[in-house]
Amino acid sequence: MKNYGIHIWSNDDFIIEDGLVKVNYRSKPSLYEIIKRIRETGIRGPVLLRFPHLIRKQIAALYSEFNRAIESFEYKGRFHAVFPLKVNQFPNFIESLIPIARPFNYGLEAGSKAELIIAMAYNNKNAPITVNGFKDRSMITLGFLSARMGHDTTLTIEGLNELENIIEVAKEFDGLTPNIGLRIRLHTSGIGIWAKSGGINSKFGLTSTELLEAMEMLRKSGLLDRFTMIHFHIGSQIGEINPVKKALREAGNIYAELKKMGAKNLNNINLGGGLAVEYSQHEHIHHRNYTLTEFTNDVVFLLKEIAHQKGVQEPDIYTESGRFIAASHAVLVTPVLELFSQEYTEKGLRLKEHNPPLVQELYDLYKSINPSNAIEYFHDSLDHMESLLTLFDLGYIDLQDRSNTEILVHLIIKKAIELTKEKGRAELKRIQDRVQERYLLNFSLFQSLPDFWGLGQRFPVMPLNRLDETPTRSASLWDITCDSDGEIDFNVDYPLLLHDVDLAKEEYFLAFFLVGAYQEILGMKHNLFTHPTEVTVEFAKDGSYTLKNMVEAQSILDILYDLDYDINALQSRLKSLIAESDLIETAKKDRIIEMLNLLLHENNYLKISPKRGEDG
Ligand SMILES: *Cc1c(COP(=O)(O)O)cnc(C)c1O
Repeated sequence: MKNYGIHIWSNDDFIIEDGLVKVNYRSKPSLYEIIKRIRETGIRGPVLLRFPHLIRKQIAALYSEFNRAIESFEYKGRFHAVFPLKVNQFPNFIESLIPIARPFNYGLEAGSKAELIIAMAYNNKNAPITVNGFKDRSMITLGFLSARMGHDTTLTIEGLNELENIIEVAKEFDGLTPNIGLRIRLHTSGIGIWAKSGGINSKFGLTSTELLEAMEMLRKSGLLDRFTMIHFHIGSQIGEINPVKKALREAGNIYAELKKMGAKNLNNINLGGGLAVEYSQHEHIHHRNYTLTEFTNDVVFLLKEIAHQKGVQEPDIYTESGRFIAASHAVLVTPVLELFSQEYTEKGLRLKEHNPPLVQELYDLYKSINPSNAIEYFHDSLDHMESLLTLFDLGYIDLQDRSNTEILVHLIIKKAIELTKEKGRAELKRIQDRVQERYLLNFSLFQSLPDFWGLGQRFPVMPLNRLDETPTRSASLWDITCDSDGEIDFNVDYPLLLHDVDLAKEEYFLAFFLVGAYQEILGMKHNLFTHPTEVTVEFAKDGSYTLKNMVEAQSILDILYDLDYDINALQSRLKSLIAESDLIETAKKDRIIEMLNLLLHENNYLKISPKRGEDG
């Protein structure tokens, strides 16, 4: 039995019970049951499950921990937060988020014009909107419009030219100007693979000299009273608390200095995002060395201390953590299409009357392997295979011999695993260290786990069922793109152990967890695999759950349309090629066109149920 580190990464969102991984909420349905229900509607391929109750859980945790810290330190400022849209802009995520956000007055952060439009349209009344990122005049104008629509909008300046633009646009608008924030460039930088947002060489923010200049410009243009916030963001997935504390000390002192220089309405410090998520499946690797409680205590305590030292008002605290809010809400379920060694069965053997001696020996090993010699025979078979493959390259054995070699070695591996299973972990591990079984998954790693491809970020992964059985196969995972990068392999020290399933008899699914932040929008359409079918799982008070907002993966025609193909022209070309073909009887041409049309409206993922072979 194995729990796939669920106690480390799942934050009790999911539990293992009765051999199944279950949603730890209300009626506690298993993911297996949910996915079966979805597949009953004819859906095949990968499915992204959204759990809005997990969005609520994270938001509630963020607010309650900050408010607890504020109370316990008798801090005078208040806590506010916004969701950074770049982390997940998908409509079904936003649709769930907005009503959940309302009672918290949780707002939105926009980093581009399109994101700002989403914020302006959907943000709850009175909840804050912060606008970051590089801004041209139209983006600034949108910010002014947002303020006019009644949104509590803050435009954060990344450079002095943006401030010039704001001053210009303010003249045009004559009256209501949004709040102005200044992004500060800190010495402190984050750590880890996302560390480029902070530090002296950061892409963003004003240096001390520029801050002084900005103050001048604000004063001269009569906008100093609009300056309400300083902002910094030292990077995403900040795994250690120390850089956060350093950044806060720096930012807190800048806040106090600017206040003393006359920024009388400057009352907010915005810490940006960066709260880390624990992705680890292993006891000894941790991706985060602090708890939310520790984080909030440190922030509140430090800001209180600085304000006290410098004799200024304790600022309100803003955060823009996105990963922490969104990651857990989505789970990607992928069907296993094939186990690589599955095709190697005894039936496939084509032994000759006289086999090459090493092949014969492999056969004898296979026939006489037993619990006491299993490991030894296993090693011998790998040695023999090496030699036989060399003999093939040199032309001494033929393709039939080579095929027999491959089959026999795989049969020996399987038998060795079976026999050593009884003898315990250590023995089995000696096999698992040497051979990995390849599991082919119906999904695209480029589309659904782009951070694995781009950054080597690992996501917790586990099977949905059979969790009361000890898994015996050390696995590597392959996606269905035609790209050799479409593989997730596992270090021998931290293997992924999966079950040896017969896919002709049963279905087997793997789920990737914590994929709700960044993965969807960063996903790329390599081989034209698009966003997987998505379903929102919503729980009622009585515990029952409903499947909502199903959006099937795009059809082939839609994918081509998105690439700007003229799909009418494309369809006519196909049609006339069929009409002109001598290879199709005239009477059958209409039927063929009909078939083609049906296929064009399917999605691009494989439509295979291993149990029954291909679906119609
Ligand atoms: C990306 C970003 C965030 C969100 O960061 P997370 O690591 O997802 O919390 C917040 N603020 C700014 C300015 C950002 O660029």
